[in-house]
Amino acid sequence: MSTDPTSGLSTATTALTSASDRIRVVLVGTQHPGNIGSAARAMKTMGLSRLVLVAPERAPDADSYALAAGADDVLAAAAIHPTLAEAIADCRVVLGCTARSRRIALEELEPREAGVRAVRDAQGGGEIALVFGRERTGLSNDEYELCHAAVHIPANPDYSSLNLAMAVQVLSYEIRMAALATAPAAVGEGERPEPPASHAEMESFFAQLAETLDAIDFHKGRAPESAMRKLRRLFLRAQPDAREVRILRGVLADAQRMARLAGERGA
Ligand code: SAH
Repeated sequence: MSTDPTSGLSTATTALTSASDRIRVVLVGTQHPGNIGSAARAMKTMGLSRLVLVAPERAPDADSYALAAGADDVLAAAAIHPTLAEAIADCRVVLGCTARSRRIALEELEPREAGVRAVRDAQGGGEIALVFGRERTGLSNDEYELCHAAVHIPANPDYSSLNLAMAVQVLSYEIRMAALATAPAAVGEGERPEPPASHAEMESFFAQLAETLDAIDFHKGRAPESAMRKLRRLFLRAQPDAREVRILRGVLADAQRMARLAGERGA
């Protein structure tokens, strides 16, 4: 890939990677090693790579690696800490994910808001943690006290507890969506978009369109203003670029030529 700073592709990729590199997923007291592997996979599919384990009941094992599929690198690089406090010591934003809404006295965010906040703060240079609890009991009250806000996936209120790795997937997806929305559009070399046509180019096109509609007797005695107003609205909404306007004008020129020929034959 090109490292040319003017290349849209590398700029977009760099912006995505640098925000994602400052966002860590912290799994607290995980009971099933398989879930750790599935979480690593969920993260990697969404471009996240920083997995942190706090006192897992069992260290990552063969089950973890089997479920990580191609995300062995994320799993192998996972840091392990004895307490949540140590895992998040350098974090500016700590979001605790909870299966039970409004159980704790913390501001509660929806996953979408959490993704936007995490990416915005990561782009501002902060370290961000998304914290997930134990399969059976979630996070303890002491652990929630270390969090700045809670995140609840608005699931079925009668059955709101997702599998741990699936909760990681939902939050990782929201982070990716937020990061993609703020990254410059990913365009490859040679396909950089042209800017929309200028006002003057559009007005010349509209003038030619009006002449052409007359030449092909489109209005048939009706006042031309109403059709022209609707057509203007249509083309202005489409925001064609200069190249597209040239193609449209080529079509009009041919229609005008054919109308002239038909007129000469009929004369
Ligand atoms: N029985 C536990 C649920 C544990 S599920 C409880 O009631 O708290 C394991 C972890 O997955 C949770 O601690 C939480 O971090 C995450 N999780 C599961 N469902 C979630 C949801 N609906 N919203 C946000 N996080 C969720």
